[in-house]
Amino acid sequence: MNNTVRNLSEIKEKLKAVSSGSLPQIIAVGKTFPASSILPLLESGHRLFAENKVQEARAKWPELKKYYPAAVLHLIGPLQTNKVRDAMQLFDVIESLDRERLAREIAKERDKSGNCPELLIQVNTGEEPQKSGISPREVDAFILLCKKQFNLPVKGLMCIPPAAQEPAPHFALLKKIADRNKLETLSMGMSKDFEMAASLGATHVRIGGAIFGER
Ligand SMILES: *Cc1c(COP(=O)(O)O)cnc(C)c1O
Repeated sequence: MNNTVRNLSEIKEKLKAVSSGSLPQIIAVGKTFPASSILPLLESGHRLFAENKVQEARAKWPELKKYYPAAVLHLIGPLQTNKVRDAMQLFDVIESLDRERLAREIAKERDKSGNCPELLIQVNTGEEPQKSGISPREVDAFILLCKKQFNLPVKGLMCIPPAAQEPAPHFALLKKIADRNKLETLSMGMSKDFEMAASLGATHVRIGGAIFGER
């Protein structure tokens, strides 16, 4: 069996061991890895992937999607407003919606094209100044704005906890914000903490290194 395929199935087993309800879906994060590294997973039947850069996704995914049209691609990196149109053509889900200007631009493109990816709002749970994401203090109002003013398909939340902290309180906070806003999708947990995220209610875990190896 191919290494990445074996790694993925081991992660699935670990998730089964910690999840009481339904298993979180595994998003394979292929950033920095070439299409040739992603192909074995597609061939094995895996369909859920993510990239963090629009340009890199454009270089790899149109070709892959030609052969695997059922593949689902998430954007998990910051999105500049001038790349919105490209992103909306390439991605099925955008996980990094985090400011009004971006919401406005996505709504504008949706009105032009008639299509919109599903959206997750990125929350900067650690309130780190250098990190993308909306502050937990502003998130409730922002969710309302996206839904009511722009009529955007906001399905849930995403977070990246501060690297130097225990992730559990951040996952718990994201879950609390999702619950009080009646949002179902919770994208949280990466290679080092996906089991913790799963035990705290993640519906999606985003895993790069533990599948593809060191970047
Ligand atoms: C790279 C990345 C991941 C995956 O990280 P690993 O530690 O390699 O599993 C998950 N989420 C985001 C937003 C990323 O940029």
